Amino acid sequence: MLQDVLPGVNISEPTRKGHPEVVANRRFLHTIPEIGLQEFKTAEFIESRLDALGLAYERCTPTGILSMIDGRDPGAGPVVMLRADIDALPILEATSHEYVSTRPGFMHACGHDTHTAMQIGVARRLVNEGFDKGRVKLCFQPGEEGHHGAEKMIAAGALENPKVKYCYGQHIWAGSPTGQILIQGGPVMAGVDRLEISLTGKGTHAAQPQSGYDTVYAAAQVITALQTVISRNIDPLEAGVVTVAMINGGTAHNIIPEKVELVGTIRWFDNETHEIIKKRVPEVVTGIANALQVQAEVRIIHEHFPTVNDDMIAEIVRQEAVQIVGEANVITRQRTMGAEDFSDFAREAPGAFAFVGAQNPSKDCVWPHHHPKFNVDEDAFAIGSELMHRVCLRLLELPA
Ligand SMILES: [Zn+2]
Ligand SMILES: [Zn+2]
Repeated sequence: MLQDVLPGVNISEPTRKGHPEVVANRRFLHTIPEIGLQEFKTAEFIESRLDALGLAYERCTPTGILSMIDGRDPGAGPVVMLRADIDALPILEATSHEYVSTRPGFMHACGHDTHTAMQIGVARRLVNEGFDKGRVKLCFQPGEEGHHGAEKMIAAGALENPKVKYCYGQHIWAGSPTGQILIQGGPVMAGVDRLEISLTGKGTHAAQPQSGYDTVYAAAQVITALQTVISRNIDPLEAGVVTVAMINGGTAHNIIPEKVELVGTIRWFDNETHEIIKKRVPEVVTGIANALQVQAEVRIIHEHFPTVNDDMIAEIVRQEAVQIVGEANVITRQRTMGAEDFSDFAREAPGAFAFVGAQNPSKDCVWPHHHPKFNVDEDAFAIGSELMHRVCLRLLELPA
């Protein structure tokens, strides 16, 4: 099948043989989506698959699973962690395929079901074929979608006993066609802060604005002025985002409200940009608020660090990707302002995070991540499985 769709793609025989099982596991997982930190049925399914492989495992957090696979000489090589996230999203699925969610209101709309299934497939290969040096720690991580699952696993000791030396993760990617792999060193996904602004003025009759201090007008000015932080304070060659995504205030057409709340997101790749944004956002907001006689409170709350790939490991991933899909299909200059809590692992142990293209218009796999019609090309699982297995073997060759 793959050769027909993707001439020239180089998938090894064991991955090819394991592919139907990866597809079946993913389809099953797709029918039982569970949101972050509630993945109890998902975890049971993963454990049943690990049981079938004869692997021991432990719950590191209530739904986070760790399992070890030893090489023939475990002490002679490093501990390499492979990570798959396992959670779904609170979205009502609107696809019509046969493995549609059986839990209305919940959906694997980011593809974490595919990550879990591919990692189980890689585990099967590692068990069946074995490897010489080192140990592989399989990490099935809950709560990636804003539930800080990685942070919780790290706090529970996921990277210790044995200590993880290198880590690797990947995301199925609906934004790129099947047959492409995206990998590069340095920051690949953004850091995230949540932005909350409260503006408090003096409520009054909407027909007598002179008797109050207008928070709605102030909110309009604040939102407009905040756009200068990126356009005027950040080097145009650097990337950043300040978005106000929610405005809450007011109860009637004839009342100027006492309070307006603004909520949004801040994104960045490098620390310098982050520091400028963190300094300028409160300055701009309070400056405008002072001028308009309202009080401002600004809260910038940490959500995620940028996902920063280690250059040496990213190069290993690139080399293996080239072996699978060819040089022309390995994209090394594409980053996203989306975020990933794999970043937490990569801050503790050098690692890399790659993207595996899975867009295919002929199968209606064209909808973006988190969309009710999101779906991915199953052929891409063979590419993702092959990549993860190859990268794992290469990392195991690195110094312990
Ligand atoms: Zn997502
Ligand atoms: Zn995701």
